[in-house]
Amino acid sequence: MKTACIMGSGVEYPIGKIVCLARNYVDHIKELGNETPAQPVLFMKPATAVIGSGEEIRIPTYSRECHYEVELALLVGKGGKDIPEESALDHLAGYGVALDMTLRDVQNELKKKGLPWEIAKGFDTSCPLSGFVPADVVADPQNLRLRLEINGELRQDGATDLMINPVSRIIAHISSLFTLEPGDVILTGTPSGVGPVASGDRLRAELVGLATLDVSVK
Ligand code: MG
Repeated sequence: MKTACIMGSGVEYPIGKIVCLARNYVDHIKELGNETPAQPVLFMKPATAVIGSGEEIRIPTYSRECHYEVELALLVGKGGKDIPEESALDHLAGYGVALDMTLRDVQNELKKKGLPWEIAKGFDTSCPLSGFVPADVVADPQNLRLRLEINGELRQDGATDLMINPVSRIIAHISSLFTLEPGDVILTGTPSGVGPVASGDRLRAELVGLATLDVSVK
């Protein structure tokens, strides 16, 4: 079973569902030529997609274009349904960094046909995930920085104050649709700078000053 750990505490949560936002940063919407959605666009990854630091991303044979997307990850500590924005942050156990690995060629075909994205987004190893810092360490989740380096070269450098939907609204919205439970993980969308990975690449994702994640591509 895949677990999420709170760093420094020994507390581990079995990972439940992983709910992800697409198109939550204006600069990334522009780079892919998408429209800004009226409502948050959601999809899910299965818990089996998770890998941790030191593990390898394995690109499925049905894709020729696998992209990285660095994202702020939220770990739910207290469940709920129809959680109000005002108390939403109280439901978090921790903050971490994730990679939403995406088979862009497969996703583009699915988009064209109006089909669900799961096979482009939820394949095994598609969700590298760091450990989580306790939620009380983060005073303001809209004042965090995300970075991604590939082979030592900076590719993404984004600030969470550029999110269209802030963390509290994301939790409120998701919990209006799906009951949240302890161990659920939320990925909050990627800033600009996404691009392809190749075999042998080493990826280092950072929630700056708080958490790091190191994985490589098989
Ligand atoms: Mg994403």
